[in-house]
Amino acid sequence: MARYAMVIDTKKCVGCMDCVVACKTENNVPEGYNRDWIVQVTTGKFPDVHLEIQSQRCNHCDNTPCVSCCPTGASHVHDVGNVVLVDHDMCIGCKACVAACPYDARFIHPEGYADKCTFCIHRVEKGEDPACVSVCPTHCMHFGDLDDPESEVSKLLASRKYHTLLPEAGTKPRIFYLI
Ligand code: SF4
Ligand code: SF4
Ligand code: SF4
Repeated sequence: MARYAMVIDTKKCVGCMDCVVACKTENNVPEGYNRDWIVQVTTGKFPDVHLEIQSQRCNHCDNTPCVSCCPTGASHVHDVGNVVLVDHDMCIGCKACVAACPYDARFIHPEGYADKCTFCIHRVEKGEDPACVSVCPTHCMHFGDLDDPESEVSKLLASRKYHTLLPEAGTKPRIFYLI
């Protein structure tokens, strides 16, 4: 079984927000909400300053506080690719998962259910890349199976330095930022 992940090359990301627009369009994300967003992180002191632009979204973690806290089973790990999803019909909108996610990746959709990045599983199951990955003009985002050593994501992680967000949270995120 696959374990999908995203590898994002921060040396190539220019923060154009095409990924954000593509996600909103592809997934009918309502006005005022986002499934992905851009964060600019500046480190160092002038003149030795480094800027990293991060396209962020749900990390589809291996350890999922958002799933274990859900009282109805709506929040779950999908059979395909271990993608973390929400069953809209089972969700009662209690917000437990919103509070449990250390990445602030979830929101309550105006229709009353928890929503977030789905890794565009509806596209992936048809053999397509997620919408955000497919539109990136600098091709800085890569999507694939972490458990396949021959996948592009595995090869990138084997050959480049990278980091994940809030590793200290213990969630084992599956979005990797190449540095
Ligand atoms: Fe759950 Fe948040 Fe991890 Fe996504 S990023 S799997 S919502 S804990
Ligand atoms: Fe589960 Fe929905 Fe409550 Fe989240 S908001 S914990 S998915 S019932
Ligand atoms: Fe949005 Fe799909 Fe990209 Fe997730 S994978 S941020 S749902 S476009």
